Amino acid sequence: MKDKCGIVGIHSKNSSIDVSSSIYYGLHALQHRGQESAGIATFNSDNINEDTYGDKNGLNHHCGMGLLIDAFKGDIINELNGEVGIGHVRYSTTGQSKFENSQPFVTTFNDFSIAIAHNGDIINSGRLRRELIAEGVEFTSDTDSEILCHLIKREFLKTSDMIETLENVSNIIMGSYSLVILVNGDLYAVRDPAAMKPLAIAEKDDTFIVASETVAFDVIGAKFIRDFKPGEIIYFKDNKINSHIISKADKTKNSHCMFEYVYFARPDSTIDGKNVYQVRLNIGHALFDKFPIDADVVMPVPDSSIPAAIGYSRASGIPYGEGLIKNRYVGRTFIMPTQEERELAVKLKMNPLVSELKGKKIVLVDDSIVRGTTSESLIEIIREAGAKEIHLMIGCPPVIAPCYYGVAMASKDELIAANNSVEEIKEKLGVDSLGYISVDDLVDSIGIPAEELCLGCINENYPTEIPSDLEVESYYKF
Ligand code: AMP
Repeated sequence: MKDKCGIVGIHSKNSSIDVSSSIYYGLHALQHRGQESAGIATFNSDNINEDTYGDKNGLNHHCGMGLLIDAFKGDIINELNGEVGIGHVRYSTTGQSKFENSQPFVTTFNDFSIAIAHNGDIINSGRLRRELIAEGVEFTSDTDSEILCHLIKREFLKTSDMIETLENVSNIIMGSYSLVILVNGDLYAVRDPAAMKPLAIAEKDDTFIVASETVAFDVIGAKFIRDFKPGEIIYFKDNKINSHIISKADKTKNSHCMFEYVYFARPDSTIDGKNVYQVRLNIGHALFDKFPIDADVVMPVPDSSIPAAIGYSRASGIPYGEGLIKNRYVGRTFIMPTQEERELAVKLKMNPLVSELKGKKIVLVDDSIVRGTTSESLIEIIREAGAKEIHLMIGCPPVIAPCYYGVAMASKDELIAANNSVEEIKEKLGVDSLGYISVDDLVDSIGIPAEELCLGCINENYPTEIPSDLEVESYYKF
């Protein structure tokens, strides 16, 4: 089970401030990063009340399945008051979806409680799990976060020092990780030495906030301070930002995930100094430069490709228009085992605007093609609506290999571009032309040198070695 998600951590400088509702709203802004489950853990030093497990250690903890609004029904959020806390939204993959895998993961020992929330994939987790089991650890979930929790506990019992503990753990684990960790009332936030996943820090009045994306700061009115550096641990001793760089970071090259810019992050976020909306506009411009089509209208596959479609329209002068209306209330509430049901699901989610499509030459922009099933259904819908020509422009180079670091793409045999040429994909999808952005143009659009990006899924050049027993997962489409 992998962990690809959104995380928030808040430290307040004074114990009368309650952080639980700010964590909740911050997580709301990160809901796009995960809809499978949500959870919050806080620590309240003034009121060492019983936690969910009946322990009196100041820790309050609640997790629930589904969207935040489902996971935190009624008055639960008010029962989680504390001056420091962390939160998590979990992403849906075709792996097992169960309550035990929701985060933050919490453990207590001696006088300590640890809560941890994780975004990323620990790629040697299989071996680490087996080792911990051999040491007598009993696991209650399938998550990497539980492994991290036990490793932290083990190393902390040896060192009694969290920085030393996190240094030791970073030498044991491989993969991507942005973490928020609550050790009693102390908040630690960590970005892996390759800085694969985003993590940033902001400030508001008497609180410090860390979050996966800057949109979480906007919603609570916090002022962005900066992105975490690669391998940076930030903690808040004496109510100040204290920073420590994990020694391994010296020997590790930056590998920021390019897919955050292409699809995963919200367009109104800025990651590592690059505004996601601007990157997507650039992608649209680059697509027009390479594939200038003479068309009547440029249309996005809503929502993620809207900025790229606007970019194409601005560069070409071809009007931007809508041709597919998205039903925003179709969540991933059901799994469709048959092809017929999957087709129905696409129709449920996207309805064509016949008046805008009929007889038109269309440039259709999408952020990426992974398995190709979505594009195939959408092209069929647009054809049925009477479009004269469909030119499909894709804002991500062909996805030819799995992601092992937290973006559940799919296995190689499921990836359409791993098994077909662009010409073959064009034929399969039934489009008049198909244009994929090139790797160089994508890199230029992002504005970060290729050497500092992870492009593993599009060039198979992975930033770490890949254990042979690693399994990959696909995402749920609905
Ligand atoms: P498909 O080609 O049918 O697998 O679907 C591709 C579409 O799914 C893309 O246009 C994105 O909008 C979306 N998508 C791509 N990658 C992911 C992912 N890892 N998780 C969720 N949705 C994704």
